[in-house]
Amino acid sequence: MRILSGMRPSGKLHVGHLSVLSNWLRLQAENDCFFFVADWHALTTAYDETEAIRSNTSEMLADWLAVGIDPDKSTVFVQSQVLEHAELHLLLSMITPLSWLERVPTYKDQVQQLAARGKDIATYGFLGYPLLQSADILIYRADAVPVGQDQLPHLELCREVARRFNHLYKLVFPEPQALLADTALLPGVDGRKMSKSYGNEISLSADPDTVEKRVRMMITDPARIRKHDPGNPEVCNVFAYQGIYNRDVVGEITAACREGAIGCVACKLRLAASLNRFLEPIRERRARILAEPRFLDEVMERGREKATAAARETMDRVRRAIRI
Ligand code: SF4
Repeated sequence: MRILSGMRPSGKLHVGHLSVLSNWLRLQAENDCFFFVADWHALTTAYDETEAIRSNTSEMLADWLAVGIDPDKSTVFVQSQVLEHAELHLLLSMITPLSWLERVPTYKDQVQQLAARGKDIATYGFLGYPLLQSADILIYRADAVPVGQDQLPHLELCREVARRFNHLYKLVFPEPQALLADTALLPGVDGRKMSKSYGNEISLSADPDTVEKRVRMMITDPARIRKHDPGNPEVCNVFAYQGIYNRDVVGEITAACREGAIGCVACKLRLAASLNRFLEPIRERRARILAEPRFLDEVMERGREKATAAARETMDRVRRAIRI
């Protein structure tokens, strides 16, 4: 299958991104994957904060490659380097009823939320970003897109737009299927969703001391006051991580916690050690990638060429179908 997925350039990635990246690695093993940095999408909400987009793109690409995204297997590219996305977006905008965009569930909420923080995103670009996403998918005639439950309405819009185009002109676009991904997210160190904007993240590139310090900050069972009080792992953030990074001994940790046989500091140190063992090869690969400044440029250039070839093939079909 041809699969398309992207991320906005948010700079260094954190442990919370690993569920998406692990899914990409699984998909990459057996499919024709296109992974892209959605830098135009960054402009839809931060059109006045563009100074970091390029450096964020490089940092994020370095993380993708460090975790194992392989530019020899997958097409790894930057959206703004393939101008055909913009052409298709424009052509699709001619056939997309305004009401389809206005009814996207998150649209009004996000406009209001950001307005409350002094940001005006009641723009043409923000209203149209789900259509730009549709163009991102359809330009590669992707068979499937990995999505979380919350993104299903966006994919449904894409499928509707594809149907409308195929009906009005000629069959060009397959209707992409949803690959529902496991979106179980690890909490940040303060228990909220992990996000750089909350300052509660553990970066994939954090050094071992920082990882340990961040793990020590994690919220545990609040009812546990003394070291030997019985604990409840189900309400503990550290435990959510133990289930992933100390999977082999999670039964032992559960029992020790419930019996009050292990203190939270000791439990956290076990987690920090395992997390550091997991992150060490990622850190090393990332450092090697960034030590070779031309390497990322070459990856982007190769990706641009491959993506452009596929996008141009689609645009030939589109222009013929529209007779333009
Ligand atoms: S012992 Fe571990 S699992 Fe239990 S509350 Fe403390 S940190 Fe959480």
